[in-house]
Amino acid sequence: MKLVVAKSAGFCFGVRRAMDMALEAAQKHPRQLYTLGPLIHNPQAVAALERMGVELKKRIEAIPKGTVIFRSHGVCLKDLQKAKQKKLRIIDATCPIVKRAQLYAKFLHRRGYAVLLVGDVHHPEVEAIRSYIGDQVEVVGDVRALRSLGPWDKLGVIAQTTQSFALLKEIVAACLEKAKEVRAFNTICQATTIRQKEAVEIARGVECMVVVGGRNSGNTQRLASICKEIQPQTYHIEEAHELDPRWFVKRKKVGLTAGASTPFWIIREVEERIRELQRARS
Ligand code: SF4
Repeated sequence: MKLVVAKSAGFCFGVRRAMDMALEAAQKHPRQLYTLGPLIHNPQAVAALERMGVELKKRIEAIPKGTVIFRSHGVCLKDLQKAKQKKLRIIDATCPIVKRAQLYAKFLHRRGYAVLLVGDVHHPEVEAIRSYIGDQVEVVGDVRALRSLGPWDKLGVIAQTTQSFALLKEIVAACLEKAKEVRAFNTICQATTIRQKEAVEIARGVECMVVVGGRNSGNTQRLASICKEIQPQTYHIEEAHELDPRWFVKRKKVGLTAGASTPFWIIREVEERIRELQRARS
């Protein structure tokens, strides 16, 4: 059995940057150090940070004093304001690419465009973007959701950074029938596109695909669903112990990829476990 491991598997630039900032803060300010929400969508990485003293708080009100780290998805305007009022030390790990999407939303809003955001309405990145333009935004996850919206004179379209480019294109095309003017910005992150393209290529050539990453990670879920469309024998796991030896019976070629928030050590453990299963069979 041959194992094909995606070169792009694992931390993207923004997640690595956020983790580095948190680790540096844990050394410099080991007391009263908090993240607002999980720093990244990976329970194992969050648990590792907690062991180093980086405590997770779901609400800014629960942070009495000290240092707060804002995650790569960004922070809602009201939480930013509250953190300033409380005089917390702020470490802003918002990914610069997410910041760029926030800036495009503001740009369109200020110029009188109705803003349409392609994304998941409950995702923290989407909630943060919305907050900077006073929630004056429609969020759609697919073309069907457009049916009940519009028409518009001027429509600006952006996307959550981890959405698929194919979906953005499809929605922009549909918007042309609903608005006199459509201005679209491709705010999708290259890290996402690269991971999705490579996953598709691998899934096409294997008999079983393993996708590693948090079940709460949107980009990992999307990788898994893209792979599953191509290769129905696709399995989304968080850790190596979830691998089922039966998945690999009579398989000549197996693929492995991971979301942008999956730590390197977990990918290695999964890779090692698959290789162990491979050795046990030969
Ligand atoms: S996926 Fe892209 S936008 Fe999101 S944190 Fe990573 S680099 Fe930033």
